[in-house]
Amino acid sequence: MRSPYTLDNPPPDEPPSNVLVPSLWRVQARWWKRHTPAFDQRGAKHPVCGHCSQSWPCHSWACWDGQLGQAVGGQAAPRALPEPATPVRALGDVVVAAAKS
Ligand SMILES: [Zn+2]
Repeated sequence: MRSPYTLDNPPPDEPPSNVLVPSLWRVQARWWKRHTPAFDQRGAKHPVCGHCSQSWPCHSWACWDGQLGQAVGGQAAPRALPEPATPVRALGDVVVAAAKS
């Protein structure tokens, strides 16, 4: 599962409240960020990973991204959800969870 995160919207260091294993999140988010193109590569037509130098998205990034996507279960990604009615509810849950903490 693709995560909702992008280079412009990277995963937070601190796990979202719905993540089951927060300690794992921190590792996954750190590696996700390592396997991204260097800043001078980001506008490139064929960027390469700043960590492993493979063409990006590199294999490692795709793996970490998939793990982050599973960790959030799509709940933090309204656009990734198939049904148009669901994102509003999911977003509401996030807001409520944030308000409680
Ligand atoms: Zn890489």
